[in-house]
Amino acid sequence: MRLREIYLFLSNFVARIAVFMVYKSFMSNIFVPKNILYILLLLTCGSVSARPIWVSLYNSQQLRQIVVSAYDSPLTVSADDSTEFVIPAGQAVYAALREGKIHISDMRGEVGAFERFAVQGTVIRLVPVSPQAEVRNCEGTVSMSIDINRILMINKVDEEPYIAGVVEAETGQGQTFEFYKAKAVTCRTYLYGNIGKHENEGFHLCDEVHCQAYKGQRPSRNIILPAVEATKDIVINSRKDGKLILAAYHSNCGGETESAQNAWQSHLPYLVPVTDPYCTSLANARWQKIISLDDWINYLVKNGFKLNPNVVTDFSFRQFHRIPNYQVNNFTMPVRQIRNDWQLRSTFFSLSVEDGNVILNGFGYGHGVGLCQEGAMEMGRRGFKYDEIIRFYYRDVNLVPVNTLQIRIPEFN
Ligand SMILES: [Zn+2]
Ligand SMILES: [Zn+2]
Repeated sequence: MRLREIYLFLSNFVARIAVFMVYKSFMSNIFVPKNILYILLLLTCGSVSARPIWVSLYNSQQLRQIVVSAYDSPLTVSADDSTEFVIPAGQAVYAALREGKIHISDMRGEVGAFERFAVQGTVIRLVPVSPQAEVRNCEGTVSMSIDINRILMINKVDEEPYIAGVVEAETGQGQTFEFYKAKAVTCRTYLYGNIGKHENEGFHLCDEVHCQAYKGQRPSRNIILPAVEATKDIVINSRKDGKLILAAYHSNCGGETESAQNAWQSHLPYLVPVTDPYCTSLANARWQKIISLDDWINYLVKNGFKLNPNVVTDFSFRQFHRIPNYQVNNFTMPVRQIRNDWQLRSTFFSLSVEDGNVILNGFGYGHGVGLCQEGAMEMGRRGFKYDEIIRFYYRDVNLVPVNTLQIRIPEFN
């Protein structure tokens, strides 16, 4: 840790000198050899994003007992900033919250009771015991402190492995390099757009879909981490106002994406309908649901529809393009509400009546706004570049280095 701090300090210092020299050479025509400038600028690369992200792990769990093990290399432990020891490779400690302290035990018995406890290493294996939850491998530092009645567990991890963890949690394995690059850029954009979301709780983001799903790292890092590194520092901003975009995504749009206006009643110039030819034959492109006509009519009546028994009513409905409302006679109802009430996979459906049933034939899966994940995967397989994928789903956007934007990053200690 010390070495990294010294490196960051020096590279920051060198960066300032480099910027100063460039400025001077332009302002006063003082000759500065180009080679020296290049070397100075190169030295500063890498310092920009060696920035730890603080992520709360198992954030919605009331974690009280956990086993922390050293997988294949030792872990360094510090407790209450005074006690230090090492967990040898292949061994573990057990942490339990009791009587307002975190009690740490190893194979020989209790090591001590502490208020703070931090573990550092390349693979920190976490096995929650109470409550039981999935096992995770993290890197960087994992610290534990007491948050009322639970252990607050924070992973301080560099930006690149954090984003790689998110990309893997959200998309799985087996995709193309260009798709992973596109996904890395959207996850980084989300990270910096929401970096103050949990500031009051003492960390940047949580590990759940409330922020971005993050499950630490798994052993295979041969494609996702390189894709994150290949797009280092790149984020997406809107050409209209220069702000980071809301990088919304969903599983499958069914052939046409939805506008933010229709889905959320907020107009965002980059989240507008896009006709998508890439996802329509993939896994989540179609769905069907059958509801009895009586149940359907009861449902509509409950929501204000007036049934006239003397008139034959046509309940059928077509969406060739996405439209916001279902309409029968003069009655209208938002398709969003129908989706929620019937737990439908999407709002993009047509409805026909056959043999006493209504049949909903639907397209896509998810809210449909922004990047269509299955379509983007297919674009990757067809040879599109990551920036083409991004610009296809988000309109009028720029890809820019994050340090060219004014973003306040909360600092913790
Ligand atoms: Zn969150
Ligand atoms: Zn699509």
